[in-house]
Amino acid sequence: MRLVSILVLSVVCCAEGSGQTKAAPPRVFGDPNVVQYAPSRTYHVQNYKITARIDMAKGEIFGDEVITLQPLQAGLKTFYLDSSQLQIDSVTLETAKKTALSFRMEDPKLWITLDREYSRAETLNVRIAYHGNPEGRPFPDAGLSFIRPDASAPDRPLEVWSYGWPQNNHYWFPCWDYPNDKSSSETIITVPEPLSVVSNGQLVKTTHSKGLATFDWIEHVPHSVYLVSIAAGPWTKYSQRYKSKPVDYYVPPGIDEATALRSFGLTPDMMAFYANIYGIDYPYEKYAQTADHSFGGGTENISATSLAETTLHDARAEQDYPSLDLVSHELAHQWFGDLITEWSWDDAWLSEGFATFSAALYRGHHEGEDAFRYQIFQDQQTAAREDGERYRRPIVDRHYTKPWEILDRTTYQKGAAVLDMLRYVMDEGTEGAPSPEEPFFRMLNSYLTTHRAGNVDTQNLVDAIRMTTGRELGWFFDEWVFQGGFPEYEVESTYNSARHVEEVTVHQRQTLDAITPLFDMPVHLVFYSGDGKRQEAVVRVHQKDETFSLPLSFPPLWTDFDPYDHIFKKLTIDEPLDALIARGERDESMMSRLWAAGALGRCTAADHAAAVKTLSEMLAEDSFYGVRVASAQALGELGGEAARQALLLALKQPDSHVRTAAVVALGRFVQEATVSGALLEVMHNDESYAAQAAAARDLGQLGTPQALAALEAAIAAKPSAHVMAGLLEGLSHFNDAQAKTILEQQSTSGTTDDIRATAARWLKTMQAKREQ
Ligand SMILES: [Zn+2]
Repeated sequence: MRLVSILVLSVVCCAEGSGQTKAAPPRVFGDPNVVQYAPSRTYHVQNYKITARIDMAKGEIFGDEVITLQPLQAGLKTFYLDSSQLQIDSVTLETAKKTALSFRMEDPKLWITLDREYSRAETLNVRIAYHGNPEGRPFPDAGLSFIRPDASAPDRPLEVWSYGWPQNNHYWFPCWDYPNDKSSSETIITVPEPLSVVSNGQLVKTTHSKGLATFDWIEHVPHSVYLVSIAAGPWTKYSQRYKSKPVDYYVPPGIDEATALRSFGLTPDMMAFYANIYGIDYPYEKYAQTADHSFGGGTENISATSLAETTLHDARAEQDYPSLDLVSHELAHQWFGDLITEWSWDDAWLSEGFATFSAALYRGHHEGEDAFRYQIFQDQQTAAREDGERYRRPIVDRHYTKPWEILDRTTYQKGAAVLDMLRYVMDEGTEGAPSPEEPFFRMLNSYLTTHRAGNVDTQNLVDAIRMTTGRELGWFFDEWVFQGGFPEYEVESTYNSARHVEEVTVHQRQTLDAITPLFDMPVHLVFYSGDGKRQEAVVRVHQKDETFSLPLSFPPLWTDFDPYDHIFKKLTIDEPLDALIARGERDESMMSRLWAAGALGRCTAADHAAAVKTLSEMLAEDSFYGVRVASAQALGELGGEAARQALLLALKQPDSHVRTAAVVALGRFVQEATVSGALLEVMHNDESYAAQAAAARDLGQLGTPQALAALEAAIAAKPSAHVMAGLLEGLSHFNDAQAKTILEQQSTSGTTDDIRATAARWLKTMQAKREQ
């Protein structure tokens, strides 16, 4: 699941002097007095057969469900299903004589009493007739969401879709609503024509009668109940294939094939990629993706992913807002999350960390190794911000009060960073494209194969490492998964020219506490001389203070400490300007150059001119856009005439990420006429929506009547939703009645639900500012 599509473009270097000192101790996650475990089961559900008619006008479901279950204990007579806000009409045991069973609702539980005690050897078919009106709970606690047009939104489509995570499916059918049981499922759903229903597995039958259409889907692969889904709408369907399997995209009417394929067209390539590196072919009958109205992010329903309709985009948006990460993330869940599923929510990283990591792997496959490393770096930064600003917690944590709390940056982004580190530790630092022959991927293949269609916890990963490599990596999991934080390395080094030895001293400066340990990690070092010599070493850092004497034939001009940024860390190295310049201009490692850009942006006044010159060259010439972005940000931090000129020049770069970063950095110069003129030009004419939106935000900061008029005119031209978001944010900076009126208008009569919601949000921000 990915609730929000996150593409963090800002680079906040987690390095020297980056201001990560914590003014106050991070707050505590969840509730220390709460310890969550999975509920114990008394039966196993083999199959759910859900027959239901959807009444769109009333927002009501009429269900007739048969649950096939087996007792797990001798003498089962009374048991419960999760069920909420549903009217239970009858419960029957499906025997030859159809025995009526007594039941009682104790919302959210439906208690059923059988006619006698049943043994573990028996199989029961319990039939439940019910109806209910499950709407009214806002996303993401939706259960079922009914989407209908109304007076304020006549263009809104007619749709109904489910949202099962974490335990929402019992709002539309009684079930064991926890992931620790796996069942096959059949959904036989009737909707008014011309709606069609997308659900899990294979479509085995479609019937039409009296203006109604019924779709019968069967998913044979056992799965946790939150992965059962329906999505009904007046879909237009476009199809591709992966091997012999259908890969279908269901989009709202009016969306052309080019638009659908822009978002989804790489899906078969992604399926081949994951099947190869994980060594398990795509496991289900088909793969469908639906673009649902008012949905947030995406959800990995088994073989039938639901995605926000807003991920569809035009050709201009592709450079800044591609669907790539969202689509690959949800697809990867079909292996990690759906085929194997955490037994309980404290292990949610086994789904979300893996999907986030897998998305980065596909990004690397598609765009190259630097793009992979850059994405992992962004994951590290996102996780570090949560650690610094909200709380520190272990990845596996039972102290959540509601499952939603566990879906945080520690689970997703730190989870991804930890998997990258695990691969680094297991593969002893091998760089390059992933291969199924690597120890890390062989281990994952074993883990997937052993637990296929079952449940897992983190110990199963440790066991898979033992089984496939013989290695004991329990210590790694203790540090990175069962405890919190990350190492804060402070590194000093000196060259002993008499002995030809580099003395490298490493301190771990993190404050040790109940959940923050000293970290034991192998660290790669690369030494560079001024005349092009290069030498590598590996040290094992595990103490609070350690000095390593490393034979080195030359005095290094600079040293890369963890050159590919495998380790989630804070790093402080006191380097002179000439070392930073050499590193930024000449280092082979993209991450090391990026690190140098950040450090140059924090240089002293005495070094300002030389740093600006180097950063200007890096901004113009570095081969990787992420380094150019970091250079633009650093120039924005340094300021001055030369930095301003370099940033203005960058507005002509072909890469939209770089232009957008330059626009953001130019925000500090917006009061200067040449800059505001250039930003106005960007807002009107740049090919990139992200650059246009960033320019609108900058111009909002300008606060002049001319800027307000420009924003107003741009809004009247009904730009894309992304540009509109920037314009509306820009308006919120004005303390002005006219700006307020425009925001009010857009919040009620903007062209889409998203634009109305965005305008309402910025209106609220504007009002909050006025009340301060
Ligand atoms: Zn996810």
